[in-house]
Amino acid sequence: MSASTTSSNNLISYPIRSAPTSDDIQSVLAVYDYSSDSTNSAAKRFVRSEQNCDYTLFIAQTQTQGRGRKGNVWSSELGGLYISIILPCVCDISNASLYSTAAGVCVQKALCSFLPTCRIKWPNDMLVSNKKLCGLMCELVCDPSGRYHVIIGIGVNVNSSFYDSPLRDTATSIRDELGHEMTITDVCKAIVHELMLLPLLIADNDSLIQAYTNASCIVGKDVKLLAAGNVKAHGKAVGFDNLGRVLIQTEIDIKSFDYGEISLRLEG
Ligand code: ATP
Repeated sequence: MSASTTSSNNLISYPIRSAPTSDDIQSVLAVYDYSSDSTNSAAKRFVRSEQNCDYTLFIAQTQTQGRGRKGNVWSSELGGLYISIILPCVCDISNASLYSTAAGVCVQKALCSFLPTCRIKWPNDMLVSNKKLCGLMCELVCDPSGRYHVIIGIGVNVNSSFYDSPLRDTATSIRDELGHEMTITDVCKAIVHELMLLPLLIADNDSLIQAYTNASCIVGKDVKLLAAGNVKAHGKAVGFDNLGRVLIQTEIDIKSFDYGEISLRLEG
């Protein structure tokens, strides 16, 4: 299915087709859904029903059930960009966490063209001025033939404003940072453009981890890792291993953590 053939009642085609599409994206399903539940959920349903689903892109204007990790809610007001893209899973599924690492590098690079100080807070948040500008989440899903695909879901606060929001101390938007609005399509294009390079990034592990390290805002900082509210480790973030796990220098030794149940807090 392509954007031009999308014709549900609440779906309209979206000008993403002017993005680097025809050569770079095999098929674009542009879902400009005025009240999508969640672009990742929509993408998941699509993968489960369709073998030829790779490089399909879902876009929503708002989400009624935007999701973060661990069942967290992603606040998805009008003015944000909410997209999910389906990619083929080209690595061993035990290494699939690298998709999150690589997607982080791609999205950070794209957002830096609007806000050059944007950095990744491990594992999957993009911060500016120590506040969350964007979150991303990867999910592995099987198509009807049993092949795995990775769904990368991204929420960016583009023109939303958090001055009057309960999230005002922890969230920001491009508009709040720049003081003026940004065209959501431009942000979308920049991100999709970078995501097309993701398979190349995944193929070179050393460069991927180096790029992620360069884009990170936690290396060299004191951090606390929490699981279900309990501190699992406290120490200095010293880098990432070849699976994108964070390495924490504690008083005793260096420990690695994958992002499953863990939340990270920057100290001080
Ligand atoms: P935490 O942010 O608590 O460390 P996390 O990084 O694992 O956890 P995610 O699941 O990535 O969290 O994102 C969800 C969290 O982000 C929510 O619990 C909320 O605190 C915050 N949040 C929700 N919507 C937005 C938004 N639009 N912009 C910024 N932050 C948001």
